[in-house]
Amino acid sequence: MTHTELEFQFTQRQSDGSLRRGRTFQETFATDKPARETWLFVSPHDDDLCLGAGLLMQAAIAAGVEVQVLVVTDGCLGYCTQEQEAEIVAIRREETYASFAILGAPAEQIAYVNYPDGGLTAYCGRRRARPGESHLQGYVGLQNAFTWHLRRVRPSRVFTPTHTDLHPDHRITHSELMISIFHAAGAIWPELGPSLPAPPRVGELAVYCDFAAPPNLEIQANDAAFQQKLRSVEAYRSQTQIAALVENTRQAGPYEYVREVEFQLYSPRNYRAMFASPE
Ligand SMILES: [Zn+2]
Repeated sequence: MTHTELEFQFTQRQSDGSLRRGRTFQETFATDKPARETWLFVSPHDDDLCLGAGLLMQAAIAAGVEVQVLVVTDGCLGYCTQEQEAEIVAIRREETYASFAILGAPAEQIAYVNYPDGGLTAYCGRRRARPGESHLQGYVGLQNAFTWHLRRVRPSRVFTPTHTDLHPDHRITHSELMISIFHAAGAIWPELGPSLPAPPRVGELAVYCDFAAPPNLEIQANDAAFQQKLRSVEAYRSQTQIAALVENTRQAGPYEYVREVEFQLYSPRNYRAMFASPE
């Protein structure tokens, strides 16, 4: 597949609301060597990323960034007919590989946590694996899996859908991933791999629901990239409502938005001025 005809424009929105248009990929993501970057896209479900980041992923790959994908759930609830129910996990796996291949990410760059679709509540945190249970280094749970994958991939940036999405799998993925970023950069759980030198930057994506606060980056793509995004959505052809979803995506146009997350880390210094006596 050739990406030579793909074009992207970036507009950054500063905290004072002013806009910086026509930014290059390098300026936008503060990197002079995109080919040395690895970005990890963490997706609650296999089809979230083509909707929320189908243009961004193409832009990153075109710039030379190594894009890695981590799909959290196994898609077992995504069946639309009774005949599909027994086969849906295998069907979705093939559709997922086809969809990401259209965006430029081959199957070897896609990993699965493989926890049950719709059942992430039972996998919050980290606990010892029970006998016979699938595990990573003897443990199960999202914080175990995310810390292991973060230390394996060692990304400079991580992207995941916003916690304001209504689906519990999205909310749980977001909250477990955010704490796992700090686990991965810390010294705990050494069996999960060497600690990250620093927490990666985090970007939130919108899939079904709005952002909690306005995004600060717009990605606009040309028609070639937009058509590929539409084809990557259409790849989930086992979904009976896929035509409507493709049409909605088409109507929305070749735009995507990202909200960069700033962690508000506590220090007493943040508050001292509020309580200082007037001189
Ligand atoms: Zn989803």
